[in-house]
Amino acid sequence: MKVGLEKLENHEGVAVKALLDSGATGLFMDTTFAREKEFKMERMKNPLLVKNMDGTVNMGGAITHQVECNMFFKGHKERVRMNVCNLGKTEIILGMLWLAAHNPEIDWEKGEVKMTRCLSICGKRKQEEKKREVKKVEKDENKETLKKLVPKRF
Ligand SMILES: [Zn+2]
Repeated sequence: MKVGLEKLENHEGVAVKALLDSGATGLFMDTTFAREKEFKMERMKNPLLVKNMDGTVNMGGAITHQVECNMFFKGHKERVRMNVCNLGKTEIILGMLWLAAHNPEIDWEKGEVKMTRCLSICGKRKQEEKKREVKKVEKDENKETLKKLVPKRF
């Protein structure tokens, strides 16, 4: 699925193909991709050892850097920290942490991802704005009806 990433330092946007992977724990960005798109990589105090599914240590070595950025997807905006490592042809991976946080409805056949089961904290501000708008419209409609109900001579 396509998501948008925004660099924190200059607000530059980058469109990226994200892979949902319940076999991965966190969020990952490919090293080559990060370098090519010039994402700011921060050195981690405590490097992470990468293990393969079978428990052996990944040949790519430890994860030493992270990229912090904003991620946009279907009305969501969230601050994410991604571990930078070699992902081959994949640009970014959203693992279990992300899947569990948003619990999206996934149609694996059609490759559709719907954010229908998000917690209320997701995109909270947006929803509040929408609510306010709805209220405003209702108020205006009330005014209209009042006008209609009150005869012209008043
Ligand atoms: Zn969400």
